[in-house]
Amino acid sequence: MSENNFDLIVVGGGPGGYVAAVRAAQLGLSVACVDENKQFGGTCLRVGCIPSKALLESSERYSSTLHDLKAHGVKVADVELDLPTMMKRKQRIVAALSTGINSLLKSNGVTQIQGRGRLAGQGKVAVATKDGEETILGKNVLLAVGSRPMTIPGVELDGDRIGTSTEALSYKEPPKHLVVIGAGYIGLELGSVWRRLGSQVTVLEALDRILPGMDTELAKAAQKLFEKQGLKFHLGTRVQKAAVEKKQCVVACEGIDPIECDRVLLAVGRTASTDDLGLETVGIETDRRGEIEVNERFESSAKGVFAIGDCVRGPKLAHKASHEGIACVEGIGGGVGHVNYDTIPGVCYTHPEIATVGKTEEQLKEASVKYRKGVFPFQASGRARSLGETDGKVKILADETTDRVLGVHILGPRAGDLIAEAVAAMEFGASAEDLARTCHAHPTLSETLGEAALDVADTAIHIPGKKR
Ligand code: NAD
Repeated sequence: MSENNFDLIVVGGGPGGYVAAVRAAQLGLSVACVDENKQFGGTCLRVGCIPSKALLESSERYSSTLHDLKAHGVKVADVELDLPTMMKRKQRIVAALSTGINSLLKSNGVTQIQGRGRLAGQGKVAVATKDGEETILGKNVLLAVGSRPMTIPGVELDGDRIGTSTEALSYKEPPKHLVVIGAGYIGLELGSVWRRLGSQVTVLEALDRILPGMDTELAKAAQKLFEKQGLKFHLGTRVQKAAVEKKQCVVACEGIDPIECDRVLLAVGRTASTDDLGLETVGIETDRRGEIEVNERFESSAKGVFAIGDCVRGPKLAHKASHEGIACVEGIGGGVGHVNYDTIPGVCYTHPEIATVGKTEEQLKEASVKYRKGVFPFQASGRARSLGETDGKVKILADETTDRVLGVHILGPRAGDLIAEAVAAMEFGASAEDLARTCHAHPTLSETLGEAALDVADTAIHIPGKKR
């Protein structure tokens, strides 16, 4: 095979693309992975999941040192924020993980090409590199080009004061007043970071609730906790305009007076990055959201052109993209790949965390599915008490007739790690009784899942009994 002729060209080196490239190489395919950024890893690694989690961790430590250590009998004086060091730590984490991806690709024999790739006809990808354009050939092409922040008319992004998550991950100092547009994952995570570091934070949300799609009861409980932490919410408030006027940013919304602030974070969702991708050269049309339509094998309307991750339907989550990437190349390699969309977890890394898998109560009601509910509060967990993290609860929803677990929703400490047990249980088609009979180590947070599962049958041990 010549140097520019591959079994598979993956366009995009994010968690969808690089994972697909590694799996395809494991299956014996010759693979090229193209990304315009020097650092492979995509939005998730460069300006998304990883840097935000680094800042969430650092800011939480700062905040808990200031506010929580006293209760543990630890006195600290002169706690000071050193934001440049916090930012450098974040960058070191990103750089180390990116180097790790390079070596994974290299050790699996994947050809890494830095440049912007676009389709140039059937089986052809034109890559604009710093040395000019190069065309590479592939029997199959996988588009894993991800997404970019959605904008709204009237909000004038200036790449500085009025920006997206990219800017909010690198402010040089905590804004005095940060206005966040959108109470979704990004708005709440980055709003929390800057609130902990001292900013006044106002969150404007068009809907009458935060975290659309998550369990409503837990989202409401979470909002109360965030309000206690000092986040201010205006729900049912659709932003119409945001601009820099003189020295201040001014945000105009329906129903409330214009708000002045010194920075604005726009976090109203993400949209597929499918512009200027040469889709027309192979006859692919995108849907009204700009997403590429694919079949169950992730193949588009053009034979041999596949697409996964944020540029196709479904939740815009890194782990969803990785799983689709693996399933897609397993199909290309002659096997059968599969993604179970009913068991894709979602985690919002606020404090406490909120995690979810499967159906919410609202969805079950809407589908007229009869279910039983088991709930266990973290207050009743010995481990949660020792951690001083007693806010929140675990909620398990199981089919009324079969007892099969249909959804699990957690607001509480390490909810993002705890949800893994629920995902595994649902993947194996477990019943609530299966979860209840699973032995959980004591004292751990995981016991809360066991107890919530017992509560589905009204038999939880550590919550007051109902008179029988
Ligand atoms: P989101 O879809 O989670 O939330 C956007 C919010 O903005 C919604 O609540 C929406 O109602 C609101 N909104 C829309 N227009 C508005 C307007 N004009 N005025 C006020 N509010 C408005 O989107 P996001 O937080 O930007 O995140 C983008 C994507 O990135 C999501 O799909 C998410 O899955 C992903 N993400 C995931 C994580 C994670 O897994 N922890 C973290 C960050 C981002």
